[in-house]
Amino acid sequence: MAIVSTPGNSAGAMNGDGSRKALLHSTEGPNIASAVAAYRANNSWPHKTVDLRRRDIAIHLPLNVAARSLQNLPGGADATNKDGDVLIQYELVGTATDPASIGSPEDLEWFGRDVLGPDCRRMGIPLVTTVRWIAYRSQPPSSYGRNNGVRLSPAEWDAYSGVLGHQHAPDNVHGDPGAIDINRILSAARGDDDVALTDAQEKSLALIPKIHALLTNDGLDRSPAARLKEGLIGIRALLLRDGDLDEAEVARQLAPLVLAGMPVDDIATAVVEALPDDQAQAFLDALAVRIAN
Ligand SMILES: [Zn+2]
Repeated sequence: MAIVSTPGNSAGAMNGDGSRKALLHSTEGPNIASAVAAYRANNSWPHKTVDLRRRDIAIHLPLNVAARSLQNLPGGADATNKDGDVLIQYELVGTATDPASIGSPEDLEWFGRDVLGPDCRRMGIPLVTTVRWIAYRSQPPSSYGRNNGVRLSPAEWDAYSGVLGHQHAPDNVHGDPGAIDINRILSAARGDDDVALTDAQEKSLALIPKIHALLTNDGLDRSPAARLKEGLIGIRALLLRDGDLDEAEVARQLAPLVLAGMPVDDIATAVVEALPDDQAQAFLDALAVRIAN
């Protein structure tokens, strides 16, 4: 394991419009040296290049400036590299067509625990992903291309906070890092295994995959508002089925939508429409506390 500094060029200051993202690329090469040679040739520097298998990290830029690894088309999204308060770009050594080349499950956990988690906590980036990560294939359906089905619109990109990949960036065609096991990375980054959970938390945690599925649910072209509405309908069903569910924990599941920039008023309106009055009030109170924290 080695950490080296290989300074590169930034794209200048971020545009400061509020979002906080971390974005993953794959280098499409065998090691850090070949990746750095490509950055020098193309002036396409990320913040960090990480070789998960060798546990090596090359640091190119401070985390508070814009990197240069995304395309930004004239007339396209108003900002890609510079969007938001912070957008950390990581190049992971390996190829998008073969996620195993990026790292073993243990390597992915190391990256989450020792690199992504600490960086995101320091820079205030939520350790969640609300996009779908799809495989890079030689034929469609593939993560490559403008219309890969998971690429965000400029407005969605602008509003997104959390973790995502090059395959989700507007103005771009690249499909890296493919179908990497992002949930394994994020779970390690959050330290999910390290905390002792109460029974109520265990119960809520078991609901996360269901709620996540309801919120994302192959939502290719649907707006965040439409996804939210479906999510709330699903949550209502869960509440009705399981009366003693902790509203605060359910609210916590909706917090990523808040962090992703969905207006709180929209969420509140949807909650009121979706839930019975007494539950809606408890839910809104819990949500307000969560947001205040
Ligand atoms: Zn890339």
